[in-house]
Amino acid sequence: MSQFNIVQEKNKLNDVMDYDAIVDLFNWSDEQLPELFAKADVIRQENVGEEVHLRAIIEFSNYCVSHCLYCGLRCENRKLVRYRLSTGQIYQAVQKAVDLKFKTIILQSGEDPNYRATDIARMIEWIKSRHDIAITLSVGERAREEYRLWREAGADRYLLKHETADEILYQRLKPGRSFLDRIRCLWDLKDLGYQVGSGNMVGLPGQSIESLARDVFLMRELDIEMAGIGPFLPHPDTPLANDPAGSLPLTLKTLAITRLCLPTVHLPATTALTTMAIDARRQAMQLGANVVMVNLTPLTVRDKYCIYPQKAEIIEEPEISLNKLKILFNDLRRPISGDYGHGLKKANRPSIEKKEVMI
Ligand code: SAH
Repeated sequence: MSQFNIVQEKNKLNDVMDYDAIVDLFNWSDEQLPELFAKADVIRQENVGEEVHLRAIIEFSNYCVSHCLYCGLRCENRKLVRYRLSTGQIYQAVQKAVDLKFKTIILQSGEDPNYRATDIARMIEWIKSRHDIAITLSVGERAREEYRLWREAGADRYLLKHETADEILYQRLKPGRSFLDRIRCLWDLKDLGYQVGSGNMVGLPGQSIESLARDVFLMRELDIEMAGIGPFLPHPDTPLANDPAGSLPLTLKTLAITRLCLPTVHLPATTALTTMAIDARRQAMQLGANVVMVNLTPLTVRDKYCIYPQKAEIIEEPEISLNKLKILFNDLRRPISGDYGHGLKKANRPSIEKKEVMI
């Protein structure tokens, strides 16, 4: 497809939220991929600039009540040794992130009702009162009032991947859950003034190109600020153990198309992606990605947060990961950002009055 056609495609997308135009992009052939990737890189440059945002992720509990067929944390996986970090351990990891100059921490866990909403709110308040750092929460589906409490306690962002926009596939992969509930959570989070991240897995068993296009379409409709997109990786202790992994080219294509369709979104080169090939992260950074997550979960439990196998850097100190990233970004001439890396639509978000957290 010529340069002219790319512009045409982009205009189509800008005029109306055209699902068919997204499908068309997915139908580009492998030979056309370099052109698609180059265009996504230009759109990235024009809309989010050269800076790379680093986020420190702290995986504080691997307990989970969900039954997701793809995930190693699913409650049926009895082989997994479960852990919960103490608040002291969490605060220590936060301190380390601050010392290493991170401006965002992501607090992630399985769906662990053992943490009451007030426990998490207290944690957020404690961190916010001591550190100048943005907080992203990623603890799954909760009631709107709980989300509200955390927002009032000072949480800035929330990451809740929609996983797949194919409702039938969603139902099959997440027994007992409903796609509509997930979407309702995302709208609640937006409404409460969070900067919201969503995203999907690529190459799930039974997933079609049309369904991937729907993922991108949905993220446009939700007008999200962060898109976490990675390949499906089969975990040996799940019902999907024998299904093939998502392919690297299709994952990269999905990233590039997401950049074209959501020009200002924060797009991480996800950890799942970097397990696929040695230079996958470099490739992602050159076709639209502008965010990298660095793992600050204590090494003593790191291998137990095993959502998929062979996580890269699983037993690596964050200083080592950071050094490697600095070399890569130096090479790509991409400066590491010194600011929070907030969503780029901050002006549109309602501010929320900070209230005392009820305990
Ligand atoms: N409990 C939180 C965090 C879930 S784990 C929540 O529900 O949002 C974080 C992400 O890991 C999931 O959103 C999912 O997209 C991804 N994930 C889980 N299992 C995976 C697998 N086998 N392959 C690739 N990604 C996986």
